[in-house]
Amino acid sequence: MSAEFDCQQCGACCAYFRVSFYWAEADDAPGGTVPAHLTEPVGPLHRCMVGTGAKPARCTMLQGQVGREVGCAIYEQRSSTCRELMPGDEKCLKARRHHGLPT
Ligand code: SF4
Ligand code: SF4
Repeated sequence: MSAEFDCQQCGACCAYFRVSFYWAEADDAPGGTVPAHLTEPVGPLHRCMVGTGAKPARCTMLQGQVGREVGCAIYEQRSSTCRELMPGDEKCLKARRHHGLPT
């Protein structure tokens, strides 16, 4: 495992992957949290965050500059996909490498 990373000084994963999840995580479904208007369809059952559906990807809710200082504008409402990606895991390292950040 790599050194610990500070996500608030990174944001690489929010500006690399297609951030997709089951449609009902959006707030037009009962119990959903992600604002539906910030998502776009990915097939019949999934959605992704606007900005991440094509390369170069960058979630429109990512504030700040990748690798400097960043924040998520909907942190409390973010999807399970956002919550599950952990600093130091395989996807994290891949995104950081893409942005030229140390791993
Ligand atoms: S790429 Fe890793 S360190 Fe950077 S914000 Fe995502 S989880 Fe955090
Ligand atoms: S919703 Fe927030 S945590 Fe999820 S990809 Fe967008 S900026 Fe990152």
